[in-house]
Amino acid sequence: MNFNIRVGISALSFFQCSRRQILSLLAAKKGIRPKMEVSKYLMAGKALHAILQETFRYHLDKIHYHFYRKKLSLSDSILNVMKALSVRWETFFRYEAGFPWEDNRAEISGALSLIDDHLPILAQCSLSLLDDTQGEKSVQTLTVADEFEVMAKLRRNIILNGRIDLLAREDHRLRFIELKTGSPKDSDEFQLRLYREIAKQTSPDIDISLELWYTKPSSDLTNARIKNVTDIHKSLLKKLNEIIEIAASIKESNDLPERIYDPYLCRYCKYCDQINQLFPI
Ligand code: SF4
Repeated sequence: MNFNIRVGISALSFFQCSRRQILSLLAAKKGIRPKMEVSKYLMAGKALHAILQETFRYHLDKIHYHFYRKKLSLSDSILNVMKALSVRWETFFRYEAGFPWEDNRAEISGALSLIDDHLPILAQCSLSLLDDTQGEKSVQTLTVADEFEVMAKLRRNIILNGRIDLLAREDHRLRFIELKTGSPKDSDEFQLRLYREIAKQTSPDIDISLELWYTKPSSDLTNARIKNVTDIHKSLLKKLNEIIEIAASIKESNDLPERIYDPYLCRYCKYCDQINQLFPI
């Protein structure tokens, strides 16, 4: 059986639960999409990703202005630009996002306040993108690209693809950066390691470092907001191909791996709730 589907890396990076990986493959084959609810966390995450990317794609000149003309610190210069970009998100959520303001007032207000809370930490993380030359901070930046796409062909005609939040080039090294606005999870690291493994298929000699930027204020990583992910030289693509073979052999729900009952991982996962859609009685 061929799947003939395209799946996102983020959907398959939950190596902690192979049941979830298998269910997401079967759901994609049947065209069933996981239910998405309007949530302040999702809204804030979407906005923060866009703010980071827009800041470095379009507004480096404004960082220069605050830093050189206004004599602000570098982190305050970045923060000022990010705050200015955050203002339009209220309009977007209220009038353009496609959900009624009256029904979602609390979630929208919550999202705006989350954005405010995360921005100072995001600005701090972003300092690492700017060069420190000749002993004083300079706003010479690295080459950056956002939403850089990586793609791999897996077994049974499955295309695996993902978009790296921010890619920075520093001399001969590429930095793959993923922004995470929730609490740290093992799948965050698996996601980045898959990006690198796929990129290495076409450019084996390239030096790639992996960074997770955590901006949740109450996160455990109180000091180290940037987590460097090290490689353990174990092929995740090989593991995914094994999971695909298991998924292809499943005929009924009893064939699935057992539930794991992990309160944190299962909290935002709807696959076990949607099982009857995949295996109608
Ligand atoms: S709800 Fe929990 S056990 Fe079920 S697929 Fe999701 S993560 Fe796995």
